[in-house]
Amino acid sequence: MDGGHTPQIAPVLILLGPPGAGKGTQARMLEEKFGLIQLSTGDLLRAAVAAGTDAGKQAKQIMETGGLVNDEIVISILRDRLSAPDCINGVVLDGFPRTTAQAEALDDMLDAQGQRINAAISLEVDDVKMVVRITGRFTCGGCGEGYHDTFKPTKIAGRCDGCGSHDMKRRADDNATTVMARLDAYHAQTAPLIEYYGQRNTLQRVDAMGDIEAISNELASIVEHVAA
Ligand code: ADP
Ligand code: ADP
Ligand code: ZN
Repeated sequence: MDGGHTPQIAPVLILLGPPGAGKGTQARMLEEKFGLIQLSTGDLLRAAVAAGTDAGKQAKQIMETGGLVNDEIVISILRDRLSAPDCINGVVLDGFPRTTAQAEALDDMLDAQGQRINAAISLEVDDVKMVVRITGRFTCGGCGEGYHDTFKPTKIAGRCDGCGSHDMKRRADDNATTVMARLDAYHAQTAPLIEYYGQRNTLQRVDAMGDIEAISNELASIVEHVAA
């Protein structure tokens, strides 16, 4: 209304879904198409583990076993990142919130700025097939682009299509055993958020079993609609 307001973050999108649903893949697409910032608490936690911070030390073991990291740690990491100036043009939350306590903390953070969630998008998948997605996943260490052995291979084996790096990484927790624990954690602690956002009229359900590109187009039309 007038020029004196604290600038608002817009839009705020949430991607919900079990491990392998395509949250990271689609968040990067939304970054490219709409200039949004991807906020992945998994990436932020892995960075904290690598840097050996107190939060990282506390998170390390639980991440290796596929459980959820303590709410206070994750909320504090997310709050710090969300307050950085680059978030002003809009964010896509990838992997946060994962519990009702995190969802309530996010609502409070946004409320304090007169801000709201534009859409909580649930990527709906067949769980059984997520094991194949997760165990075939690898990422470029140079630019962060995500790939899959079968579903999204690099054009030249071992070389990133985007930046040319040969530094391909696989996550220690992307193994069949840990994936089962992560799927269990999703159903027990995160799936209730589908109802949480349904009650708040921000939920959008998307069938995420199709092609990466088709899903991406569907998400783009949702974003165009809610951010208009
Ligand atoms: P999440 O962040 O939800 O755990 P990712 O985006 O990392 O999931 O996707 C998991 C793996 O599956 C990656 O290797 C990715 O390339 C691949 N993938 C993502 N979306 C699809 C899809 N629609 N079809 C097939 N493979 C996909
Ligand atoms: P994926 O989307 O493939 O399940 P992430 O990279 O989002 O994996 O998360 C990896 C791990 O980091 C999780 O298994 C969990 O231990 C931890 N983690 C990430 N985000 C959260 C969160 N919001 N709350 C609690 N733990 C989290
Ligand atoms: Zn790269």
